[in-house]
Formats: sequence, structure tokens, C-alpha cells
Amino acid sequence: MKTFRIAALAGDGIGPEVMREAIKVLRAVGKRFSIGFQITEAPVGWAGIDAAGKALPDTTLELCKQSDAILFGSVGLPDRDPTIPKEQRPERAALLRIRKEFGLFANLRPVQLPKALAHSCPLNADRQGGGIDILVVRELTGGMYFGQPKKTEDLGSGQQRAIDTMVYTTAEIERIAHVAFRAAELRRNKVTSIDKANVLENGVLWRDVVTRIGKHYAAVDLEHMFVDNAAMQLMLKPTQFDVMLCENMFGDILSDEAAALAGSLGMLPSASLGATAGDQTFGFYEPAGGTAPDIAGKNLANPIAQILSAALMLRYSFKLHDAASAIDLAVARAINAGLRTGDIFNTADANAKRTGTREMGDAIAEGI
Ligand code: NAD
Repeated sequence: MKTFRIAALAGDGIGPEVMREAIKVLRAVGKRFSIGFQITEAPVGWAGIDAAGKALPDTTLELCKQSDAILFGSVGLPDRDPTIPKEQRPERAALLRIRKEFGLFANLRPVQLPKALAHSCPLNADRQGGGIDILVVRELTGGMYFGQPKKTEDLGSGQQRAIDTMVYTTAEIERIAHVAFRAAELRRNKVTSIDKANVLENGVLWRDVVTRIGKHYAAVDLEHMFVDNAAMQLMLKPTQFDVMLCENMFGDILSDEAAALAGSLGMLPSASLGATAGDQTFGFYEPAGGTAPDIAGKNLANPIAQILSAALMLRYSFKLHDAASAIDLAVARAINAGLRTGDIFNTADANAKRTGTREMGDAIAEGI
């Protein structure tokens, strides 16, 4: 029996509560499918600072290096962060460090709106069609956020000039395009590539390279869309999208816009992937939301984002597609049975039963 090594870094706020439920579900999956998961927990964020003086303790980083994937909660506490220098704060010192250390260049954010949660979506029922199911694939290490030069110059007379530079190389576009096309093959075989080829040099290169890579994926339909139109189409007809392939900044903006369609951060998982070597893809899996200090420690948090992050880990790093689908199905079953944490509860829904973090996790684990 193959054993997969998982570094489980729960972090701060609701992190430990939702991580506990994800581990519970992974244990149920391991049992049902006879898969070995070696799950090792370690502190990160303020938990890391309190335990070992650093947001990413050396032993935690070492554990990550010895693991096949990282399952992450979230880090940062708004009342404690300002008490230490910026570069030591959890999001910078732990999250950005891990991204860099493991070369995580692809960010995957699935946005699903199950029919039973139609009320959480800001769009009317007509626009939701049979349910929204989009995967935003965002390039994470290039483009405007990292291009050089990046500076603010003094022009004298009280004037300044700020410069950011958008840079992409062919190789950077190729590798993220492959991620998007491969992801589409596991879904509905459609990629919408987002660019601004009518104005930006980067957009022209992006479109050329994506078109060329697309030819290797005969079963996948490729369409190109300008980013401004894509922002509008997400509101007008979100059901037209399967995989949206975006450069860093466009993906940052569009993934949040798409996330709003699902109603609650508590439902949204994410994956950040590094390079694929053989059939191994190192990945970092975390909920889209933060540490939610307003509800931490009260059994109120929705554990579904963390549990679906574990499902993404099984699918993208371990290639355990049946086991990943079993988690997706068990989540759908719990939702269809009416279980609702506070963030997705609606009094108008007669079927809804208000439930806590632990009880939602129990129901999903039993559903496996
Ligand atoms: P947040 O995502 O923590 O919370 C925003 C709102 O969403 C809150 O009302 C919260 O209760 C709700 N929410 C989030 N996740 C939920 C869940 N699973 N179930 C139910 N409700 C949920 O964002 P914030 O308040 O801006 O940030 C709080 C802290 O988290 C900050 O210190 C921030 O820096 C940090 N943060 C960390 C990450 C990360 O680790 N990747 C991401 C975002 C924010």
C-alpha cells in the first residue's frame, strides 16, 4: 500500500478547528479506499511564533520538504500582526516563503455553487442556470506583481512616478497553460484564456503561446477573451465558463469576483502547484478565506473549504481521483441533507438545519 506524506499546518484562528475536520475526512477516505496517509501536524503563523519564535519554524519547513504535499489552514491575527515588523508577520514570513521555497507557480481556485445554496449567490436564479462550476487557474509568480523595474521615483517639485513592469516569458506561459489544459481534461474540456491582447504586448504573447499549447490537447476547446469582457461575462453568464486561464493580476481580480458567486468563503478551497516531475506534483492546499478571528474557537466555522482543499490535494498531487470524488460527493450529500453552518444558513430554506463545525465534519466523514 502506497503511503502519502502530508504536512498539516493548521495555523491560527479557525485553522485548527477546520483542519481537525479535514483530517477526520482524510482518515475516513484512507479507510474506505485502503490508502495510507501519514499526516504530521506542525505549527505555523502565530502558532509557530508562540512555539518556536518564527512564523515558519525550521522544523515545520523541514517537515514540508519531507512531505508529498502541504495541507494548510490559514495564518495571521489582525490584533497581533501589527505588533511585529512586517517581514516577520505570518502571511509574509510563512505563506510567501512557502510559495517561493516550493516554486508554487499555479494557483487553482474552483468556485462551485450547488443548487441547494442558490440563495447565497448574488445573481438571480436565471443567471445561475443549473449551478455554477468554474475553475480559475492563475499564474502566481510572474507578471506585474514581480516584474522589474518596480519602484517609485522622485521627480522633484513634490512629484513622484511609480513604475510596475509586466513581464512574461514563453516558458512561464507554457507551464501555466499546460496546468489549465490538464485541469480541463479532468473537467468539462473547455479553457477560456483571459488576456488584454488588444492593448498589451504581454497579451499578444500570452495568446500566441496558449494557442500553440492548446494544439497538444485535442479534446479541449480553447477560447480567448479580453479581461474586461471576462469580468462582465462572469456576472452575465457564469455558466459559460469551465476553466479560466489567467495571468497573475487578472487572476487575482477575477478569482475574487468568481468567488463572490459562491456566497461564502467557507466553501472555497484552493491549490497552489509547483512543477510536475514524473507523475509527482508538489502542491500546497488551503481554504480561500483567512483565520476568521470573529468566529474562531466557537464551533461556528464552515470546514467545507478545508475539506475540499484536501480533495484537491488527492486529485492534483496524489492522482487519487476516485477518493477525491468521494469527498466532493460526501460534501454534496451533507449540503443536500440540509446541513448548514452559519455562513450558508438561510431561514427561508425549510430544509436547512443549523450545524456546527464538528457536526458538519462528522456528517461528511460518515458520507465517505
Ligand atoms: P477572513 O477570510 O478571515 O474573514 C472574512 C469573513 O469571512 C469573516 O466574516 C469570517 O468570519 C468569514 N469566514 C472566513 N472563513 C470562514 C469559514 N470557513 N466559515 C465561516 N465564515 C468564514 O478575512 P479577514 O477577516 O480579512 O482576515 C482575518 C485574518 O486572516 C487576517 O489576519 C488576515 O491577514 C488573515 N488572512 C490569512 C489568509 C491566509 O492564511 N491565506 C488569507 C486571508 C486572510
